[in-house]
Amino acid sequence: MLITANNPNRKSWIPVKPNSDFPIQNIPFGVFITKDDVVTVGTRIGDYAIDLGALHQLGYFQEIDLTDDIFLQDTLNDFISDGRKTWRKVRNRIADIFDINNFLLQHNENHREKVLFDMKDVEMQLPVNIGDYTDFYSSKYHATNVETLLKGIDKSKSANWLHMPVAYHGRSSSIVVSGTPIRRPKGQTVIENDFTPIFGPSHMLDFELEIAFITTDANKLGDSISVKDAEENIFGLVLLNDWTARDIQKWEFEPLGPFLSKNFASTISPWIVTLDALEPFRVESQIQDPKPLHYLQQEGKKTIDINLQVSLKPDKGLETVISNSNFKYQYWTMSQQLAHHTVNGCNVRSGDFFGSGTVSGNKPDSYGSMIELTWAGTKPIILNDGSNRKFIDDFDTVIMKGYCSNNQVRIGFGECKGKVFPPKKN
Ligand code: MN
Repeated sequence: MLITANNPNRKSWIPVKPNSDFPIQNIPFGVFITKDDVVTVGTRIGDYAIDLGALHQLGYFQEIDLTDDIFLQDTLNDFISDGRKTWRKVRNRIADIFDINNFLLQHNENHREKVLFDMKDVEMQLPVNIGDYTDFYSSKYHATNVETLLKGIDKSKSANWLHMPVAYHGRSSSIVVSGTPIRRPKGQTVIENDFTPIFGPSHMLDFELEIAFITTDANKLGDSISVKDAEENIFGLVLLNDWTARDIQKWEFEPLGPFLSKNFASTISPWIVTLDALEPFRVESQIQDPKPLHYLQQEGKKTIDINLQVSLKPDKGLETVISNSNFKYQYWTMSQQLAHHTVNGCNVRSGDFFGSGTVSGNKPDSYGSMIELTWAGTKPIILNDGSNRKFIDDFDTVIMKGYCSNNQVRIGFGECKGKVFPPKKN
């Protein structure tokens, strides 16, 4: 089935500003709550949220086999379970309904009032009920930098890293939608070279610039997903800030890996941009040397050219852009990650969530975390207001953005934003 929704020449009757992340070629999926407290599955064009529950009730999806309440839900899990064919049909149909040459809804004021909301009047929710969260470690530049900074030795990555996409199992309960306030975590830390821990707020709060993908029900327990079929099971992508307390991490992470340094909060952007919408922006992935084992081998354009940016905004100051990276710098691809994750028979479900790992480029201004950008605090970042940062201060806001563009279309992810507040007193 053709992805007619991606037609670069299509224009919408909804106004879209020139640099918008949400032209009619995007059609992401999310969940929002209206001023009248109605929760619905929706999409977005320009600065308008579109109520898919209302559209379905009004009969606009009649020719597609959907249950009546598929969009009248507070998560996308059931819709994601319906599979790629249905996602594609629905996206194609939405593109058709909002095409400038289609007058059906465009000329029906009564229906428009039920379906369209100004983005200012809705509140975005977490789009899926996330069952399991896995965080990979798939940027070679990031892995090299972090090994050097945290282990204090300039040696290359662990022996296994070049042979498989390394990951840990994260915590899904603390994944929050963009805009949710973040509390600075408290925990155990140690002073340099002293092994007597102290307890208190983290003094090395960091962000990690990541992309995450969300899957459908992919395989039964005991089955594996081949690298060739892996993408069929990926619904879409969001921006992810995997907040990290570096001082807590440094003390706790041997021998079993990250725990409390990571699981206090992870922020995601609210709109899931479908893998279908990202098709025009595919690029070749990094050359892998040594050649991976057979079950991880693949050919073709298996990664996506997504420009990524991080800004830091002090409480009363202006935003300063502190990093510009790109998803295409990743060493291991999403399909390799999913094939590896399931090669032992681990089952993956609708709404499961997979972080890419910090997306660092090869240049110092493309690093995806503060610990790399400031080289563990030895090279503070100077902000536009003249202040400097080694790590994130209380009342700072971290803002991540991502977009793809070619000479015809630009689509983006919107914002993944979180403001840091001091820990609670007790
Ligand atoms: Mn991470």
